Amino acid sequence: MDCYSVAATMQTDRLRDALEAHFGFADFRPGQRGIIEAVLAGKHVLAVMPTGAGKSLCYQLPAVMSEGLTLVVSPLIALMKDQVDSLAEHGIAATFINSQIDGEERDRRLAAACRGRYKLLYVAPERFRSQSFVRALASAPVDRMAVDEAHCVSQWGHDFRPEYRELGPVARQLGVRQMTAFTATATPEVRRDIVSGLGLGDGQMSLAGEGKPGAREQAPVPLLRPPAGSSAALVPSEPELFVHGFARENLELRVIHVTKLRDKLGYIAALAREALGESDGGESDGDSDERGGSGIVYAATRKNVEKVAVALEELGIDCSVYHAGLDEATRTAAQQAFMAGESRVIVATNAFGMGIDKPDIRFVAHHDLPGSLEAYYQEAGRAGRDGKPAQCVLLFNYIDVRVHEFFIERIGSEDERRPERRALSGEAVARLQRLERSKLRRMVQYAYHERCRHQLILRYFGERTEGAECVHLCDLCRERAGMARPSWTATSALSAVSGARVKRAVARVPRRLGEAETVVMQKVLSAFARARGRVAASEMIKLLRGGSATKLPDDLVQSRSYGILANTSATALRAIIDELVGRDALSAVAGRYRSYTLTELGAKLMKREASIELCWPQGRGSGRSTQSAETIENVDEALYAQLVEARRTMSSELSMPAYVVAHDAVLRRIAAERPTTTQALLEIKGMGPAKVERFGSQLVAVVSAHVGAD
Ligand code: ADP
Ligand code: MG
Ligand code: ZN
Repeated sequence: MDCYSVAATMQTDRLRDALEAHFGFADFRPGQRGIIEAVLAGKHVLAVMPTGAGKSLCYQLPAVMSEGLTLVVSPLIALMKDQVDSLAEHGIAATFINSQIDGEERDRRLAAACRGRYKLLYVAPERFRSQSFVRALASAPVDRMAVDEAHCVSQWGHDFRPEYRELGPVARQLGVRQMTAFTATATPEVRRDIVSGLGLGDGQMSLAGEGKPGAREQAPVPLLRPPAGSSAALVPSEPELFVHGFARENLELRVIHVTKLRDKLGYIAALAREALGESDGGESDGDSDERGGSGIVYAATRKNVEKVAVALEELGIDCSVYHAGLDEATRTAAQQAFMAGESRVIVATNAFGMGIDKPDIRFVAHHDLPGSLEAYYQEAGRAGRDGKPAQCVLLFNYIDVRVHEFFIERIGSEDERRPERRALSGEAVARLQRLERSKLRRMVQYAYHERCRHQLILRYFGERTEGAECVHLCDLCRERAGMARPSWTATSALSAVSGARVKRAVARVPRRLGEAETVVMQKVLSAFARARGRVAASEMIKLLRGGSATKLPDDLVQSRSYGILANTSATALRAIIDELVGRDALSAVAGRYRSYTLTELGAKLMKREASIELCWPQGRGSGRSTQSAETIENVDEALYAQLVEARRTMSSELSMPAYVVAHDAVLRRIAAERPTTTQALLEIKGMGPAKVERFGSQLVAVVSAHVGAD
């Protein structure tokens, strides 16, 4: 044994003891020990580990074991208090200063820091904008700066913060001699940018302990504190780079190449059903088994999110939807329902997932191609946190690449989606485009990869691949080993779900209206405005179609509304009215059967001061998209109206679109069959066990009350 390894072993024990004494953890997580050793040796460090891998400990433990103060820079103000509280529970002196701390308290904490009261001081980067703050802090014994979420340094990262670029100069001013930086970000460009942005070097580092000859012998930064007042205590040098924790042995990675977009929905539905043991909503007997767990389906746009959600609901799989177009309360409700296991699947854009640490996510499916492998793996990596097998499936269609290219071409242009990029110089735009294209290229390479997907990912993140063999856990390795494909990928599973039902479901996705449709909507709304809640919807339809006028007030018959939509079918008009009610453009008049007045939104829509997305009836003469609506006989219209109201209440209580609760056609079938038990309700086409469990008792109550009153 050479001197070095003896020393290392001794230190190892010392470190583990310290870990246990200060944090109560039995052992280090992969990678932590090496990073902590380097930090304690006074080296600059850049550590890249995925979220949840335990980066904080890598600066917290050295802080506790060192003399001076570790200054932690973090943009996550919301988490500071929790971190500090939990350190306090372990008896570690720490505090934080951010905008939530008032001036007096801030000065108190600063003064205490200067007296050496703390081991760790968490500070939000904005603080350093104040020179008086920096000067006050300069008399504190700050030894080390720990830059958390260090990708914020990089202009090419997604969370660029200009204040982070000032951290190098600030560190110098404070007499900090050591920089440590932590991030989950992978891309080499961003890593280089972090290193140069912190003023440490040009970012040409190699993995700790390999690459550059003699890297080990490099003299560590002197451990002695420089005399107070001396400047440039920080010796710039390339930091040691550590990359750990990206290997996820329980993730079954798979890419499915699809040619028809609809097949994506088929695969996702089949995967969800098999992974979660859900049964078919319409036809099967609903023998769902006891398998727990949940799944996430990511889609690129709000529209695709709704499309997938509708298809899954149609197939009896309960799901929540989550995207930036929903208000905050709705998003929170969706997230809570998912976390609590009430809805087992969440269909979401990439807005969903920050801080989501649900252990039993059994699958993450991507309906659309992410723009980078990094984004993909971060989202897919939310699966299987409990260490049990989980599936990560990317549905790939080459068209998706074109969509990304389309947006890359538009970076910095007038139709740029991100306003902050509109002002970029031509040079910056070109660089950004190059960068985005190269990220996209890596993502596409993953889709077309022919060896092992796990190995490709590790290489991408720069983690060592030896010892990280894929044990037939990616589709490619499984195929080479002659293993069977999972049954949900079989054509039969696919055709069971990708047929007419999915097509029908997709037709039920709300969409932006065309010009002709908008005009129809305006005409309907203005008729309601004229009627001022005096006539029921069924009379309204007669008015618009120019039918029997016996029950209509004279002024309405004389008005321009009479017969103005003579060519639109009554069914279509009923659907449009239901939609407008469901979307809060019309509101019910209390005590008046199916009478509605315009809401504020309705008035704006009528005047074209607002726009809306609706499920517009399709087909001949704006006939219904679901043929069934026209062929269902013996519909009890009064009951149907009550069911629509009940659906409205449920949908607003549950914050989900009405069509997710139940389609019109399903309500019409219920209004025809009039089931008074949940068992009977289960017989209705479109009412699967999942739906019956969720909405059954309320729907049955409406029917029972109505039948009893007959
Ligand atoms: P990151 O910043 O990398 O996303 P955190 O530092 O927040 O991750 O750590 C995630 C969780 O892991 C925390 O609850 C932390 O207490 C826990 N943790 C970290 N290191 C260990 C360890 N060695 N043993 C057990 N738990 C650990
Ligand atoms: Mg962290
Ligand atoms: Zn593999």
